Amino acid sequence: MQNLDWVNNKKILVILAHPDDPEFFLGATIASWTAAGHTVEYALLTHGENGVSPEHSEPKVLARLRESEQQEAAAVLGVRDITWLDYPDGYLVPTLDSRKRLVALIRAKKPDIVVSCDPTNYYMHGTYLNHPDHRAAGQMVVDAVFPAVGNPAFFPELLEEGLTPHAVSELWLSLPAKPNFQLDVTSYWERRTQALLCHASQIGEPQEFLAHQEQRRIENQTPDGRYCEAFQRIQFRK
Ligand SMILES: [Zn+2]
Repeated sequence: MQNLDWVNNKKILVILAHPDDPEFFLGATIASWTAAGHTVEYALLTHGENGVSPEHSEPKVLARLRESEQQEAAAVLGVRDITWLDYPDGYLVPTLDSRKRLVALIRAKKPDIVVSCDPTNYYMHGTYLNHPDHRAAGQMVVDAVFPAVGNPAFFPELLEEGLTPHAVSELWLSLPAKPNFQLDVTSYWERRTQALLCHASQIGEPQEFLAHQEQRRIENQTPDGRYCEAFQRIQFRK
């Protein structure tokens, strides 16, 4: 398990597929970052309107509900700004058009650190298939960050909108197939749970959810009782 070596305050942009992905994948890490004075923003590719919710089967109604749940959960972790990219839930595909939109977003926001999820992670724990939107979101972000965000030759029409190349210093991929970085987030684990409880349309009966999370905790717990969240962390050479 590693600790972070960041000296200055960072601007961090978390780009993921669905409302609740930031909290499930790296909620404790986000809480630790905002507590340390870093600025974290979300960009979510869909509104999660096809997520599981027996009581809210109308996609438009569920989309609005999930936006407000996400705003509340983000606030628990110290995050206020959320950009919604309005792609249809369940049908994310990395295209040149989506790459261009993400290049424009990253150039506009100019984050030091970009966070998404690992596009190579198909299966987990022998019991779970990763959602195709998660893999697609990761692929879209990885392909935007390199080479197009930092290279004026790509999508030159963006230059006319003032969206000049930007150098991202690190890319963090949550839900990694093969982690190379594990962050100790023990002090923020409870905050992650509180944020997840905001996603009431997704978690079912709260007590059952908490019991299920207890199982998940064991996977995240080291023998000495610490909790961690795992990443593939890529630190670009200057
Ligand atoms: Zn998701």
